[in-house]
Amino acid sequence: MRQEKLDELRAMPVTPPKMMIGGASLGASTGQTLDVISPIDGLKIADLPNAAEDDVVAAVTAARTSFDNGIWARMAPAARKRILSDWADLIEQNAMELAVLGVRDNGTEIGMALKAEPMSAAGTIRYYAEAIDKIYGEIAPTDPSTLALIHKEPVGVVAAIVPWNFPLMITAWKIAPALAMGNSVVLKPSEVASLSVLRLVALAHEAGVPDGVLNVITGAGPVAGRALALSMDVDALVFTGSGNVGRKLMEYAAQSNLKRVFLELGGKSPHIVFDDAKDLDQAAQAVVGGIFRNSGQVCIAGSRLLVQDNIHNAFVDKIVALTEDMRVGDPLDLTTQIGAVSSGGHLDQVLSALDGVSSIATGGERILQDTGGSYMQPTIVTDMGADDPLVRNEVFGPVLTVTRFTDETDAVAKANDSDMGLAAGLWTADLGRAHRMIAALRAGVVHVNTYGGADNTVPLGGFKQSGNGHDKSLHAIEKFINKKTAWIKL
Ligand code: NAD
Repeated sequence: MRQEKLDELRAMPVTPPKMMIGGASLGASTGQTLDVISPIDGLKIADLPNAAEDDVVAAVTAARTSFDNGIWARMAPAARKRILSDWADLIEQNAMELAVLGVRDNGTEIGMALKAEPMSAAGTIRYYAEAIDKIYGEIAPTDPSTLALIHKEPVGVVAAIVPWNFPLMITAWKIAPALAMGNSVVLKPSEVASLSVLRLVALAHEAGVPDGVLNVITGAGPVAGRALALSMDVDALVFTGSGNVGRKLMEYAAQSNLKRVFLELGGKSPHIVFDDAKDLDQAAQAVVGGIFRNSGQVCIAGSRLLVQDNIHNAFVDKIVALTEDMRVGDPLDLTTQIGAVSSGGHLDQVLSALDGVSSIATGGERILQDTGGSYMQPTIVTDMGADDPLVRNEVFGPVLTVTRFTDETDAVAKANDSDMGLAAGLWTADLGRAHRMIAALRAGVVHVNTYGGADNTVPLGGFKQSGNGHDKSLHAIEKFINKKTAWIKL
């Protein structure tokens, strides 16, 4: 990656964003748009179509038509696989352009964005493309006078609603397994980060995904997203985003056709450091990286540090020193380690979570105002009690809280004292303790002596109010198939 290339791409005007409905590139039927403001400098970079309910109906109808006519669902698996593989190739060929477009939209530092966005999305699409012709039906072991078959069929029309923090990666987690299994899709990216997703969908059509099979609508969540979730013709709804919106989606499903709903929601993940950790410097690096990359706007961010009493002060000194060394700034500058917070509005919310908090060990302020962008110092807050709102609520910004614990029992109690259960991390040299902690922690992902591993082969999903279902791995495919049983008398 070269700085000159990044500067060249960032200077390019953004192609006017269009939705994709039934293979046609369209604006909203009302002509309405939303301003796309870059968090890098606060300047407007595009007008995003703001879909009305009629546009959502058109997109769902296009998806239903393409599903019913079988152009995709009944295509030979090897042919679907070829198209999805070609799509992954095109994404890789356009990776820099996609990454820079996404960064201009949501402010993620480019080093992370390139890897976690287009390259990760291409990898996910290829993973599910390769799975297509390796998934078989079953024959049940019934009485020999009958033959019982278990067919795996696509569910039909899948709606996917995704957030802004990793728009391409999360879009791929949803739509790659859905498309691989033969479903038709209506995708709704976040109004905060739609630009790179629209380009991703255009590349899918270039690769040969038939018209109507992958549709995308953009605009306000409470209008376009709500209409999609209330649709009587959507069979399954997959979502990544906040708990508040997740709750609404379950209500919309109940108010409409009881569509199946899968939610990947927020986290308040504990990162636990025991005094017997082999390398406290390495643990400190992981704690800082585990909260501050992408300005803390990561679902599995280790936002609650729990440190054993006897090493507390020394460990806090280490993480404060590392944090104060981090370079915050222009996310398209290769030397930047922490980019912009996704929008001015979100930055205000993150700062307001710190109102009245006195024990700030470092950070806490908005910075680089002269750029017009939304930047914040990475922030560490110590001496936090279990009931402090900063400890209980997801901030989704560069804010780490620190709490002390005495022993293993206390660590488990404090770690599990949360409404959420997405991820956890722990540092210890004691293998027995590591296994006891894995069993005791109520979280969908537990990291031991590392933090934030990612691979398509490993499922990601939350416990408690962090959601249901899983993204990634072959387990994710279950969401997108119906099992049909057939009894044959022999
Ligand atoms: P959000 O819930 O505000 O928005 C997510 C999506 O929902 C957007 O596309 C938005 O337009 C849409 N939406 C908003 N209101 C809606 C409504 N009434 N009906 C239908 N759709 C609506 O979330 P966000 O701020 O974009 O993303 C941040 C959240 O996502 C955080 O809570 C984060 O933890 C979570 N997240 C979870 C995971 C995971 O894997 N569990 C991954 C990434 C992010």
